[in-house]
Amino acid sequence: MNLHEYQAKELLNNHGVPIQRGYTLSDIKDLDYISNKLSTETGTKFFVVKAQIHAGGRGKGGGVKVAKNADELKSYSSSILGMMLKTPQTSKEGKLVNKILIAEDVYYPGESNHEEFYISILLNRSSSRVMIMYSTEGGVDIESVAENTPNLIFYEEINPSIGLMPNQARKVAFNLGLSGVSLKNMIKFISSLYDAYIKTDASLLEINPVLKTSDNKIIAVDSKMVIDDNSIFRHNSYADLRDESEENPVETAARSVGLNYVDLDGNIGCMVNGAGLAMATMDLIKQSGGEPANFLDVGGTADADRVEVAFELILQDPKVKAVLVNIFGGIVRCDRVAKGIVQAYKNMKDQIKVPIIVRLEGTNSKEAKKIIDASGLQIFSASSFSNVTDRIKEVLK
Ligand code: GDP
Ligand code: MN
Repeated sequence: MNLHEYQAKELLNNHGVPIQRGYTLSDIKDLDYISNKLSTETGTKFFVVKAQIHAGGRGKGGGVKVAKNADELKSYSSSILGMMLKTPQTSKEGKLVNKILIAEDVYYPGESNHEEFYISILLNRSSSRVMIMYSTEGGVDIESVAENTPNLIFYEEINPSIGLMPNQARKVAFNLGLSGVSLKNMIKFISSLYDAYIKTDASLLEINPVLKTSDNKIIAVDSKMVIDDNSIFRHNSYADLRDESEENPVETAARSVGLNYVDLDGNIGCMVNGAGLAMATMDLIKQSGGEPANFLDVGGTADADRVEVAFELILQDPKVKAVLVNIFGGIVRCDRVAKGIVQAYKNMKDQIKVPIIVRLEGTNSKEAKKIIDASGLQIFSASSFSNVTDRIKEVLK
């Protein structure tokens, strides 16, 4: 689950990470109230207007602006709120800005004696360890630093049974070129950041820029945070953080009925039980010259209702030229699944305009094939993998 900058900052703040403070609004009439409140609380003279969308590079697209007076604040806020913001990380159409964050200006006006760093915490899958990735080259896009000057990016891996050691936090701060008060503050910053990463069950936490002010404060100015979806059940407060308007609507619909669906770019829809079988099925589709249009695991209970929802999810994708149902009947019996498929097909007859290929293997598979063949419906019942491959090749001809 991706979070917005303002949500991530709130979680960071709860874990003691110093942040650039601010308030959000979705209606421009709240602007005066919020800006007054913020300047009373922080003493800020300037305000930063920041579009809240699930994409980075907002500054480049005109989604982050520093307002030096009330007129600028009003005009930037009203133009950013409701705009279609295009950044290097959005589609060509851009993303609709439903919310803006009005933040204090933490770059003291007229002073250039600040520094911007890059710090992220993420999982290194090849070593199975959490690592801190950091660089002195913050503020600009880190992708081009990684490409052009990879020697300016450093890594610190963390032993999971010990956690972040104090000397590791010190080493990171030191490598960022800090000393004295700013070194101390950076060590605290990194420890709190790591603590936040672990306690929130994040899979990615990226702060770019981390700011060192001229008076040696260390502050998170931006924040990108991804929460591990598998951990959401153990954080009650996370239910409110999901912004469905930012997500793929089909994936959201699937999640709401407990189906595991991932949208892909191909032309063959798949409905499978079990993630391993889903992977094998996707390979099979590729071997037949097709490309999987989705990953869909219907899980252990492939009854008529679930099959029908699954068909609906798959068929909303106009790229789908055929649907392959590949179910292994272990606990769930194939004849029950077959009945479910026939029932779902009958209910959805008008919507189904592409060939349906079904392979049911396992308990009662013979009965299942009989049920499908006897239904008189346009369902191709395959009895082997080569059957499936041939049929896909025919469809794609
Ligand atoms: P991104 O473009 O989506 O990564 O958004 P950021 O939150 O990183 O903001 C983009 C840039 O705006 C930062 O790199 C800063 O240079 C600038 N910025 C952010 N906050 C402030 C601020 O308080 N004052 C000033 N002057 N600039 C800021
Ligand atoms: Mn940024």
